[in-house]
Order: sequence, then structure tokens, then C-alpha cells
Amino acid sequence: MLKIENLHVEVDGKPILKGIDLEVAAGEVHAIMGPNGAGKSTLAYALAGREGYEVTAGSATFEGRDMLAMEPEERAAAGLFLGFQYPVEIPGVATLTFLKTSVNALRRQRDEEELSALEFMKLVREKAKDLDIAEAMLKRPVNVGFSGGEKKRNEILQMAMLAPKFCLLDETDSGLDIDALKIVADGVNALRSPERGMLVITHYQRLLDHIVPDRVHVLADGRIAKSGDKSLALELEEKGYAAFGAEKAA
Ligand code: ADP
Ligand code: MG
Ligand code: MG
Repeated sequence: MLKIENLHVEVDGKPILKGIDLEVAAGEVHAIMGPNGAGKSTLAYALAGREGYEVTAGSATFEGRDMLAMEPEERAAAGLFLGFQYPVEIPGVATLTFLKTSVNALRRQRDEEELSALEFMKLVREKAKDLDIAEAMLKRPVNVGFSGGEKKRNEILQMAMLAPKFCLLDETDSGLDIDALKIVADGVNALRSPERGMLVITHYQRLLDHIVPDRVHVLADGRIAKSGDKSLALELEEKGYAAFGAEKAA
């Protein structure tokens, strides 16, 4: 589903990713772990098409299509979703308005009929309830004044509403206490399906107790230093990142 080959990415002329190879098949959940500064967010941003993340070599295809040639909104329409490590605040735009606009924009791009106000409200109430998000929160501007945990739950609400083919989650666990972590993990697990791929970026092993990955990759200094099954996450927890050739220990 997602195939990355020899991906090199520069930010401000500085090489950050130095040859990433990664393949995620439909139905699989892969985890990327790595120390701070390894390039995890850079990988997520490059895949989403964020400005300033310059691909200097390599390729990334999504269902056989050249992702890197697509605009960010085309990648979203193709079914890619990125949950941000640092969710953006959008003053003046109510969360409900934001969600309805996003959902219907994607539906239009896919030549699907837009959801009516009633259909939308039914769907958002159901998904928000699963994520323990109060309706009052949905009336507030996107992420403005939200706690760290509320912002992360709001990211997962967006993902649940958009039901993307491929979920890319960048440190969705940071800022979550154990109860919120469980709610978020349940929300992510509810979206696991044979048709959907996921790449879950995390610094800590504990998220992977709840979202059990098929494969784990250690990203260190812009390269995949090691890949393995879920036991690799436990090994990392035990030995620290330094044991995997990472420049900075965890
Ligand atoms: P991680 O998510 O693994 O902590 P990042 O991808 O955020 O790592 O960062 C990798 C490296 O790229 C770091 O050295 C960081 O300082 C640098 N970097 C990331 N984004 C930018 C940016 N927008 N401008 C300058 N340097 C950046
Ligand atoms: Mg970081
Ligand atoms: Mg990061």
C-alpha cells in the first residue's frame, strides 16, 4: 500500500532523512520508534507533503501512485491522514465547522454526496462519544485552549471522521495520561481493518502495549537502523536507543 524507497529529505538545506526504505501492506500496522531528532516527524511531514521538506532522492508510492508528485490535498483525497505531534490551533473556526468542512471536502473530491447537517451531527456525536469528547468541546475553536490530551483526542476524532485508507500518527501518545492513552488507542484500534494501513510513530514503548504493531522499525540519524516484530519495542525499552547506533540515547 505504502512503499518508500531510498527516501532522502532535506530541511533548510540540511539532510535529515538519509535513505529510508519501508513498505506497509494494507491491513498492517507498523511502528516507527526513535530518539528525539532522529527524523520521525520529518518522515511524516515529507509523506504528507509539508512545505519546506525537500525530497532530494528516492520515491514514495501510495497504492502504486507517486505520492511525492501530489499536492497535500491530493494525498488526503487519495486517503492519507496525518495526525500531528503538535496539533495546530485554529482560532475563530469551531471544531464542528472544521470537521464538517473537511469531511465534505473529501467527499466532493471523491465524487461522493456531501453529508447533510443531520447525517454529519449523528456521525460526529457517535465518534466523539467513543473518544470521550464532550459536545461543548466541539463548539470551541479547533484546539484553542484544549489540553494536550484533548488535542490528541481531537486528532483521532478527525481521523475517525475522515476514515482514511492510511493513518500516519506522529507521537499521538505524547501528552496523554494512561486513561486518555487507552481511549486514543481504542479509537485507533477501532480503525484497524484489512483494507487500512497504519504507521504509528512513537518515542515510547507503552503506546505499543495498546496498539500492537505487526512490525517495528528503529529510526536513528535519518535511517532505519533495525526492523523487527513487536518484541523489538520491548528490547528498545530495555536497552535504550544507544544500543541501536542512535547518536542520542533515549
Ligand atoms: P523527531 O520527530 O524524530 O524528533 P524531527 O523530524 O522533528 O525528529 O527532526 C529531525 C532533525 O531535523 C532535527 O535535527 C531537527 O532539528 C531538524 N528539523 C526538523 N524540522 C526542522 C525545521 N522545520 N527547520 C529546521 N530543522 C528542522
Ligand atoms: Mg521530537
Ligand atoms: Mg517528532
